[in-house]
Amino acid sequence: MNDVSEIIETLYRGDGGALSADDIASFLDECESGDYDEALAARAREVREPIYGNRVYVRGLIEISNICKNDCLYCGIRRSNRNCIRYRLDEDTIISCADEGYELGFRTFVLQGGEDAYYTDDVMCSIISRIKSSHPDCAVTLSLGERSRDSYRRMRSAGADRYLLRHETANPDHYAQLHPASMSYENRIQCLYTLRELGYQVGCGFMVGSPYQTNRHIANDLCFIRDFYPAMCGIGPFVPHHETPFASFPSGTVEKTCRLLSIIRLLCPHVLLPATTALGTIHPRGREMGILAGANVVMPNLSPVGVRKQYELYDNKICTGEESAQCRDCLELRIRSVGCEIVTDRGDVKK
Ligand code: SF4
Repeated sequence: MNDVSEIIETLYRGDGGALSADDIASFLDECESGDYDEALAARAREVREPIYGNRVYVRGLIEISNICKNDCLYCGIRRSNRNCIRYRLDEDTIISCADEGYELGFRTFVLQGGEDAYYTDDVMCSIISRIKSSHPDCAVTLSLGERSRDSYRRMRSAGADRYLLRHETANPDHYAQLHPASMSYENRIQCLYTLRELGYQVGCGFMVGSPYQTNRHIANDLCFIRDFYPAMCGIGPFVPHHETPFASFPSGTVEKTCRLLSIIRLLCPHVLLPATTALGTIHPRGREMGILAGANVVMPNLSPVGVRKQYELYDNKICTGEESAQCRDCLELRIRSVGCEIVTDRGDVKK
């Protein structure tokens, strides 16, 4: 047995905690050939099976605003993009999206947006409590970036269950290459710990193939994820946006993204792991491949069709033209094609 196969078995046995960042970085280098991807995916499915079976959870994504005060270098809706047509959804529109989603069988709503000052704590608390009182059997997930502890606390008290905040990279120098000086790695990580302390189910994550990323950076990400053990972990390929400083960088690959999905499933067997829209953007069967690699969540769009193209975090994003019901039906067929099934369920982390 060679070193790579031994590491796969170490991960499969649940002993990934014994691996150092150096071990993982060398392992990732060895895996670049693609020769071990099938073995990793098979082990990831074996680990997923007793916990989640063939059940795939859907999250209804409502993109509430593409206005953002930040200027992340990779992001299509960054503040400096003067060619982005901005929008924000008002409270009643957001509620209607959730109501429509409920009828379609969604039991989790993800309210995602840029860091837009319009959505004060009062506004957000009102939206959250209205959704929770109309649909008490549903979970509300927020993905609204960095806010104060008090803001996170108030939204949690209003009924928010989960919070997604990708850490983006667990290496401070790499973080500084992807973000303006006004943003800090330390604050990002602190937000994740604060959210957990406040009782949220917390999600972190990163882009695969982001500019300047090395396997050593990814090894640091994997160690961080293993040690933090998030309830959710969003990883998808980096896809460039033409109006950003990273326009000419290449996209991440479907192969490497799927490989990392498998490794994360092995490091954190209970994690809720989306096959992301970005994965479906770089390959026509990217999301199906993600499910086969160990993912168990998909996030179809519930935003009004009229604004979907404007929430363009990266170029050529898919699913911007279909109605919500079409998106759900399309995903249902795709998930079935790989032997899994979409379920009507809040889909809380099983731990
Ligand atoms: S990645 Fe998020 S915080 Fe950064 S510019 Fe885009 S929407 Fe704003």
